[in-house]
Amino acid sequence: MQGTFMRQQAEILRRLEEWDEEDIEDVIFDQEKERSRVAVALAAILGLLLMQGAEIGAETIHVTEPLDMTRPFVRDFIEQYPFRFANKLNGTTANRVREALREGITKNESVEELKTRLMTIPEFADRGETYAELVARTESWRAERTGERLMWQQSGKVAAHIWKCMEDACDFCAALDGMITSIDTPFFEVGESLDLPDGRTLLFDYEDIDGPPAHPWCRCITLPVEMEI
Ligand SMILES: [Zn+2]
Repeated sequence: MQGTFMRQQAEILRRLEEWDEEDIEDVIFDQEKERSRVAVALAAILGLLLMQGAEIGAETIHVTEPLDMTRPFVRDFIEQYPFRFANKLNGTTANRVREALREGITKNESVEELKTRLMTIPEFADRGETYAELVARTESWRAERTGERLMWQQSGKVAAHIWKCMEDACDFCAALDGMITSIDTPFFEVGESLDLPDGRTLLFDYEDIDGPPAHPWCRCITLPVEMEI
């Protein structure tokens, strides 16, 4: 992940050197190319983590079957999700670059000053280390928890699952703790939000919340509720 940000940074800096100061879009990295690169690199890792999660899920409910890789949800996660993720990731980076450049241009900054300003966005600050870790951890957690849930679903033994947060969870995750949903139904659909009594809101604007993570760095889990026999 860090390599991705370094590569995008290098391309942006190179483009900035050659920039005729007309269109900010000329400075942004090639988004089409980056979308495939990021998605392809990610797909392999996410597939492995998905299977790892499925193994954990199988152990929890004492089944030994492997995850059926032909099921639509499994295929979607391996084949389509990496592209949706790459789109979102690169789109966010491109927006931050645009915003930084616009601000610098308003202040009549030189190319050198614009470069310095660009280095403050999370993707490029500290060589992208912190941000890369955030993304990697959150996406690993998503892949593992997704594999686990898909296994529970496939087994036919699990009726529902319950949200469980860690002791040091944020207020949003603490509010989710104990929430239960059918194994086939998301906790929240994309576009819905979680509203706290104090007025704070967490909008789910990325994907359906089929399970954790609810937000970046989220370390919540869900527990299976097995069917009554
Ligand atoms: Zn959480």
